[in-house]
Amino acid sequence: MRKETLQEMINEQVKNEFYAAYFYLSVSSYFEAKPLTGFAHWMKVQSQEEVSHAMKFFNFLLQHGSRVSLLSIDQPPSDFESPLDAFSQALQNEKRVTSQIHHLYALALEEQNADAQVLLQWFIEEQVEEEESVGEVIEELKRVGEDADALLQLNKTLGTRDAD
Ligand code: MG
Repeated sequence: MRKETLQEMINEQVKNEFYAAYFYLSVSSYFEAKPLTGFAHWMKVQSQEEVSHAMKFFNFLLQHGSRVSLLSIDQPPSDFESPLDAFSQALQNEKRVTSQIHHLYALALEEQNADAQVLLQWFIEEQVEEEESVGEVIEELKRVGEDADALLQLNKTLGTRDAD
């Protein structure tokens, strides 16, 4: 089988980032129904951030004279066992994206594509932040445990997240 080119893999990453946006939006809807509107807000902001990631890759391809072919986005899960389950799945997704980005970077080195290396270095740092911020909420949720008041307090805190 022919090895996929960096350009093809970046094209695929556009879809992966949109999937992440879709996933967070789905989690936002789950929290909205609880209702935990602070959590829902946090997830909506996160979803917007993923759209901006997708657009960074999209624009990169266009700037470099490539056509983008938009691929189908998988349906994200729509129900979760608990807030902790939703955030744990989010962390798994972020870890998957991190390894996708690392793979892209390795390919950019191989193809000696300096522009793509610069773009991907930004994403490598961004992924450290993404895993960290999701991980922090997971730690908070573990501390909250079954304490309903603490959960509402965390809900309030997450509701103050600024749109990036
Ligand atoms: Mg992303």
